[in-house]
Amino acid sequence: PAPLAEHGPAQIIAMCNQKGGVGKTTSTINLGAALAEYGRRVLLVDFDPQGALSVGLGVNPMELDVTVYNLLMERGLTADEVLLKTAVPGMDLLPSNIDLSAAEVQLVSEVARESALARALKPLLPDYDFVIIDCQPSLGLLTVNALTAAHSVIVPLECEFFALRGVALLTETIEKVCERLNPDLRLDGILATMYDSRTVHSREVLARVVEAFGEHVFHTVIGRTVRFPETTVAGEPITTYATNSVGAAAYRQLAREVLDRCRPVE
Ligand code: ADP
Ligand code: MG
Repeated sequence: PAPLAEHGPAQIIAMCNQKGGVGKTTSTINLGAALAEYGRRVLLVDFDPQGALSVGLGVNPMELDVTVYNLLMERGLTADEVLLKTAVPGMDLLPSNIDLSAAEVQLVSEVARESALARALKPLLPDYDFVIIDCQPSLGLLTVNALTAAHSVIVPLECEFFALRGVALLTETIEKVCERLNPDLRLDGILATMYDSRTVHSREVLARVVEAFGEHVFHTVIGRTVRFPETTVAGEPITTYATNSVGAAAYRQLAREVLDRCRPVE
């Protein structure tokens, strides 16, 4: 990909699937790191009270004084009071911890409760090329906030039995947000993860996903490898932890696909 002469405004991507353990957090970290390697300025938003994205980047969520939660709920607080630099040049993090679980309840009584995250991110958009929001495994108000803020959605799907179960509910939610809150939202792609080419089963699931979603499916498929759980322990992306690995190559390929698909934001 060509280097950029100048940065921003950012395209916002929501990494979303209400099922847990499908590779949302892993894909957020590694797509982000691969885009940063290509010279893009990247902001990752941990939008899951479990704080797995923060942990995966070597941050201890329990030691944080301010998080995305404060940015959502407190007027007057600016993003740079919450932002953390990561070890990857050009990639920053808005971290979270369990505090964020209170936002789900507290936002209910707010005016424009669905657009709290969009409001919080707005001042940051000129500084970045991509913002990637790591959603929690639910379709609740936090996820609706992520979809309202986003330009596009990436849905990681694990190549396993029942991968497609629940996806209809997710696409309905995306359509509703599109109708009522964010008409420009588009489904950028379905990302097949944890693919095992040695099993007939994985191949069958992938074929069914392609049958169901056609060209919405990214050509990049993320293989199943123990390297990914290892990177979580190491607290860094696979692109730096095992820079020549198959997994790192896969997320670089995904980054190139995202750059190809990404239309400039007007
Ligand atoms: P989610 O955020 O959707 O819950 P994660 O990204 O946390 O999913 O992944 C769940 C678990 O699976 C983690 O332990 C992660 O390290 C592991 N994992 C993610 N992607 C892969 C992969 N391609 N191969 C093997 N393990 C993976
Ligand atoms: Mg996660």
